[in-house]
Amino acid sequence: MNSFARIAVNIPSVTGVFDYRLPPELEGKIGAGHLVTVPFGRQTAQGVVLELIARPSVAETKPILELLDPLPVLTGCQIELARQLARTTLNPLAAIIELMLPSGLGQQADVLYTLRNSQSEIRNQQSTATQSRLLKLLKEKGALRGRQIDRHFNKVDWRKAAQVLVRGGEITSQSILPPPTVRPKFIRTAQLAVPPEEAEAALPGLGKTAATLSRRQSALRLLMRDPDAIDVAWVYAESGCNLADLQELDERGLIVLHETEIWRDPLGKIESGEQGTEHGNVPLELTPDQQYAWDTIQKAFQASSNPAESLFLLHGVTGSGKTEIYLRAAAEAIRRGRQAIMLVPEIAITPQMVRRFLARFPGQVGLIHSRLSPGERYDTWRRARLGLLKVIIGPRSALFAPLPAIGLIVADECHDGSYYQSEPPFYHAVEAAKTYARVCDAVCILGSATPTIQQRFQSEAGASLRLELPKRIQFYDNASDSAGLPPVSVVDMRDELKSGRRGIFSQVLVDALEQVLKKDQQAILFLNRRGTATYVFCRACGTVAKCPQCDTPLTYHTDGLPDLRCHRCGYTRKMPEKCPHCASDQMRAYGLGSEKVEADALALFPSARVLRWDWETTRQKDAHEIILGHFAAHRADILVGTQMLAKGLDLPLVTLVGIVLADVGLNLPDPFGAERSFSLLTQVAGRAGRSALGGRVVLQTFQPEHYAIQAASRHDYAGFYARELDERRKLGYPPFSRLVRLEYRAFDPARAEAEARSMAARLSKDILTEARVKTDLIGPVPCFFAKMGGWYRWQVVLRGPDPASLLQGKSLANWRVEVDPVSLL
Ligand code: ADP
Ligand code: ZN
Ligand code: ZN
Repeated sequence: MNSFARIAVNIPSVTGVFDYRLPPELEGKIGAGHLVTVPFGRQTAQGVVLELIARPSVAETKPILELLDPLPVLTGCQIELARQLARTTLNPLAAIIELMLPSGLGQQADVLYTLRNSQSEIRNQQSTATQSRLLKLLKEKGALRGRQIDRHFNKVDWRKAAQVLVRGGEITSQSILPPPTVRPKFIRTAQLAVPPEEAEAALPGLGKTAATLSRRQSALRLLMRDPDAIDVAWVYAESGCNLADLQELDERGLIVLHETEIWRDPLGKIESGEQGTEHGNVPLELTPDQQYAWDTIQKAFQASSNPAESLFLLHGVTGSGKTEIYLRAAAEAIRRGRQAIMLVPEIAITPQMVRRFLARFPGQVGLIHSRLSPGERYDTWRRARLGLLKVIIGPRSALFAPLPAIGLIVADECHDGSYYQSEPPFYHAVEAAKTYARVCDAVCILGSATPTIQQRFQSEAGASLRLELPKRIQFYDNASDSAGLPPVSVVDMRDELKSGRRGIFSQVLVDALEQVLKKDQQAILFLNRRGTATYVFCRACGTVAKCPQCDTPLTYHTDGLPDLRCHRCGYTRKMPEKCPHCASDQMRAYGLGSEKVEADALALFPSARVLRWDWETTRQKDAHEIILGHFAAHRADILVGTQMLAKGLDLPLVTLVGIVLADVGLNLPDPFGAERSFSLLTQVAGRAGRSALGGRVVLQTFQPEHYAIQAASRHDYAGFYARELDERRKLGYPPFSRLVRLEYRAFDPARAEAEARSMAARLSKDILTEARVKTDLIGPVPCFFAKMGGWYRWQVVLRGPDPASLLQGKSLANWRVEVDPVSLL
């Protein structure tokens, strides 16, 4: 008989697993995944039951107090995922479990206590003072929730008393959790149902009176112009018609009225060529490459055996039709009675993908995004738990939706840095997705035009099946070999300087911008923001200031510590006055803000409408949608922006992408810097020329010879991969080793340094004792961003075949520990 429960308790500062006793009245009602309250020290805490056990690990156990929700809050697969993640990421199990619970749950789940017979006197002579008080309270106030009772019992543990009363039959207790209330909001839409010629022919006979006729005609004409499903409110406003008119048109089979889940779509009605198919629920006819990919994936749904055979790396250039594969896979999962999770880096800027899913699976898609109120988020969670939602789309947290039978997990743009949670508990959602898919025996698809080195390497090693979509969709029609990616002109900014141009924009870029504006098309000017803390180089010859000891580029800081620093060995120096190579006085710290780019663009083209999309302009709510909506509606000509621009946008009028300075980010002291730059440049370049208008990319750089820039300018993933792998091998970085980064933060710089030094000493000793000859230490050194929000940061990096195992079971309190970090800055 399993009369005990192992529970992950979560209260601030204590996150651990403890054993409790099942009280008789809860026996048979509690199992793995249930949310309960338990006594913890002098307080009451919430916890999740991990498993029932026969023998507790301690002699004295306390009883579970309450069951807060009759349904489990975690599935068995989630508990297993949490266990595995806790082990591999070195995070406390309870911290991972906390990620899986919706934030409103603690507030909403509760227990209702009711006096069984409100007329009866309090007879029990043995009642303790607390029991009497509780009975009196319930008699006065009627039934109360646990949290309401808390307010009447300051610091008194009344729950134990309540349990005795429940057992004695004086009161009853009942877990309560309101059922999902928020239904998705719907709007009514109208859409043309026949070919435009047929609609045209029907125009004359649409009504008897002149007024009706004209209303219905103009409504139909509106729908003929726009093949999308359109909000009827808009049709009313534009045509003066009413619902009865539209219903009449619907009855005649000319249009269809639908109910569509509300999803504010910043890209509105702007579309590329083939909306008709895209918006229906009809799957597209696949290209040969898509067909091969889909056939392979579909097989994995049939035979669930080897996890490596159900993990796919879908490597497809921008615009190659990856989404259609995801849609088919989701449909397959649903057909088999299971659900799908679709991870995206940022839902607000992938509206097309969302729209395709909503159209293909109406009423079955749950969206998780930052605009959801806690109540809506919570309801999505509950609808997911009940199996009412078949597809969940959202950023990394969407992975933790409690779907009962997951059949598919997709991570689109799987290279994207936002999948990594860079605050504790640190975890990588793509790695977690792979683990989760193994746990629930689901198919897992990682899709990207630029998979990370690690992802590709693992695929080559046989851990996943690679499927390629090498061409843009519209290039399957013509016979050429071209993948349809836009040509990239590399501009050497040193030459510009030599010919006396000191501005931000090269002549090539200025000319290209002028062309675009003349043709009334659109341009994107991209700036890599990661470089605001910058490196130093010579504007005359391109020489980068490097550390004399380890050849790492030095970085420039203005935080009061010495100017130039090496973040590998700690070397520092003042800003050099002359270039060590050509002796010019053009050594400069290079940093460039998007305000500056905006101002310079306006100075050159005073009548151009320039829109800025960066952290500054997107701080307010909905800013992404508003800015993107503006640009998509062609209310601006030039969009100046940072990283967000790289994330999956599809803007048909954009025929020029100007990369203002490609170098920023290349010379950072970080083994993943080149990879990040290549990926970003390739993704940004992929924003140009996605429609029949074509397009081009102008890439400005002071280091045209750098391999990341060379490869990006040719859209050459394979070339970059081969070269970067060589570099990593030479330097002993992942995928040829694994890293653990340990960071210490303190307000006092001396303290941070001292802690880092003593940690490094401890680790060196452990490496020696355990004879880990292949493991070494990098540091202790100050972090690249040495000071953040008043904290001084120091780090120690462990490198070796399995450095995390060195830390297993060790006390790391106050340290921020990252296993497989995505950056060492
Ligand atoms: P990716 O995700 O690879 O960047 P998308 O899935 O967005 O590419 O596809 C690019 C465009 O091609 C979209 O407009 C999509 O509707 C269209 N498309 C995809 N597959 C097909 C197909 N088989 N036939 C016609 N159009 C397609
Ligand atoms: Zn150095
Ligand atoms: Zn020089």
